[in-house]
Amino acid sequence: VVSYRNIRKCFGDLEVLHSIDLDIMPAEKVAVIGPSGSGKTTLGRLLMTLEEPTSGTIEVDGEMLWHQEVKGKLVRASEKHLHKVRGSIGMVFQHFNLFPHMTIMKNVTEAPIRVLGKSRKEAEAEALEMLDKVGMADKVDNYPSQLSGGQKQRVAIARALVMHPKVMIFDEPTSALDPELVGEVLNVIKDIAKEGSMAMLLITHEMDFAYEVADRVIFTDGGNIIEEGPPQQIFENPQSERLQSFISRFR
Ligand code: ATP
Repeated sequence: VVSYRNIRKCFGDLEVLHSIDLDIMPAEKVAVIGPSGSGKTTLGRLLMTLEEPTSGTIEVDGEMLWHQEVKGKLVRASEKHLHKVRGSIGMVFQHFNLFPHMTIMKNVTEAPIRVLGKSRKEAEAEALEMLDKVGMADKVDNYPSQLSGGQKQRVAIARALVMHPKVMIFDEPTSALDPELVGEVLNVIKDIAKEGSMAMLLITHEMDFAYEVADRVIFTDGGNIIEEGPPQQIFENPQSERLQSFISRFR
């Protein structure tokens, strides 16, 4: 579904990503782990079109993101093109970004009605189905301020799901939560992952979660992918010294 090709990203003099090649297959769950500041969030933000790569390109289902090939040359894609590709990507952020002045139902139906052109009735039926999946169907008339952090995050997940993205990015979805609320959110994500068809990019500091959910784990450090492989290999048989030392911190 997604391929990053030779992606480099600098913020001024700071090179955050050096040269990233990464493919995410249909339905594949890819976890990204690595030290703070290693560029994990930036990797997600490039795919979400919130950052533009300094060089390199990203493809989503054969459509080029950020750059387009015109007569053999790469040129920056139009806003219209970016907007179109963005439609197949969903994201759940560290901070939930719910609309505070809207009820939970409104939060979840806003984009399907406005962006996908669904009728209110259809959008509400589907919102209810997704809210039920994340255990929030009884809160449709509440406002975000009346919910706990874990509940808000579950609503944010439902809100992303109703857009039926081909790939969903979870950027440290539990790192802003009180410890006792982390489990409920991770369980919801695990359930969605088990259902299957959607590809996922899971940026996380939760190693047990990555182990359990991911088909493949990517370890980034210093703007490079240092090691990648199935969770068992990454966590039980790390090859590089950097990954060994990173993992030993969680034991
Ligand atoms: P963490 O695990 O702490 O969230 P991360 O691996 O997700 O870290 P990024 O958030 O991608 O890392 O940040 C990588 C580096 O890029 C950091 O040094 C950060 O300060 C820097 N950075 C990120 N965004 C910007 C920006 N908009 N302008 C300048 N520097 C930035």
